[in-house]
Amino acid sequence: MGGDEFAVLLPNLNNDEIALQIADRITSSLREPFHLEGRDLYVTASIGAAVYPHAGVDGRTLLQHADIALYRAKEQGRNTLRYFSPAMNSRAFERLSMESSLREALKREEFLLYFQPQVDLNGGEIIGFEALIRWQRPEIGTISPAEFIPLAEETGLILPIGEWVLRSACAQNVAWQRAGFPPTRIAVNLSVRQFHRENLVDTVTRALQESGLAPQYLELEITESVLMGKEMSILLMLRKLTDMGIQLSIDDFGTGYSSLAYLRRFPIAKLKVDQIFVRNLTTDPNDAVIARTVVGMAHSLRLKALAEGVETEAQLAYLRSIGCDQMQGYLFSRPLPVEEATRLLVQKKRL
Ligand code: C2E
Ligand code: MG
Ligand code: MG
Repeated sequence: MGGDEFAVLLPNLNNDEIALQIADRITSSLREPFHLEGRDLYVTASIGAAVYPHAGVDGRTLLQHADIALYRAKEQGRNTLRYFSPAMNSRAFERLSMESSLREALKREEFLLYFQPQVDLNGGEIIGFEALIRWQRPEIGTISPAEFIPLAEETGLILPIGEWVLRSACAQNVAWQRAGFPPTRIAVNLSVRQFHRENLVDTVTRALQESGLAPQYLELEITESVLMGKEMSILLMLRKLTDMGIQLSIDDFGTGYSSLAYLRRFPIAKLKVDQIFVRNLTTDPNDAVIARTVVGMAHSLRLKALAEGVETEAQLAYLRSIGCDQMQGYLFSRPLPVEEATRLLVQKKRL
């Protein structure tokens, strides 16, 4: 149907269950790695199903509705199946209207950045901030990135939006430095899509030049999926960035297909232990072991480990006991608008 979209036609179904079974067979056969040029590649599939006659009586409508169900499946985490239901039509409509307002949002200056401090666990001082985007949608209110970043990625709008984030984050960090605060790093999230553009390095270089930020005060957060991409070109790009003095960290570490080989191969400085492992750190022994292992592994590869989503003193105490280097989370501070983040710097707030 498209570059990475396929349709399966199942005639004469006796019941909907059969579609589910077939979808299961498709996803489980895709679960095996594909061996390509000496590497194991993994793919997942999201599936949308539309069943005649209640999801449509002609081919075109059925395909359209299967497509809507497919988007729903993708939204709810990949690798799933969704059946079309009439309620999805209104969701699809919402999505369309979100897409058109997302296109206008940059021009109308509806985006803003929140800043969440990252803290050193030894000294207790703020060592940096993560820039997190928010969308102030007129008449609707603040929308979190989880709601619009996936759509921005699908539509390619993540490229101009990501560039805006980079420029604004660098500019803010320079503003703090010029105001006389001790220099800290600003961490910016990058989407996989931004790596598929040859000019990412240029975009970053420009953001640094225009703002006057020294590269060592910029950190780029990438996900494991970036490293699973076209290896050589990604590696070259990352090398160029680190050669400039920029620091790279891996976000949500432990949730992707972690091929440990890449940790050696790529110029990474820091692993951010995903909050799903931190959440039950003190109640689930498995999560505690995972956190301890990730921190240990980071250290043996001479990387720093930062725990995300730290909310309680008990989690903090455990993280300290396993030698985790840095933390970020509600326990110290939520992501804050710029004035409030600045207040933390004024107060010299410590852990
Ligand atoms: P992330 O990069 O892993 O960011 C951490 C998320 O965890 C943030 O959600 C933050 O508000 C939340 N968080 C921080 N501390 C705690 C805590 O103690 N407890 C809990 N429950 N949550 C905590 P947010 O701001 O909604 O961002 C969600 C995701 O959206 C980010 O995950 C990141 O993947 C993406 N994102 C945000 N800004 C950007 C951006 O500028 N560009 C791109 N490409 N993605 C972005
Ligand atoms: Mg992040
Ligand atoms: Mg994260």
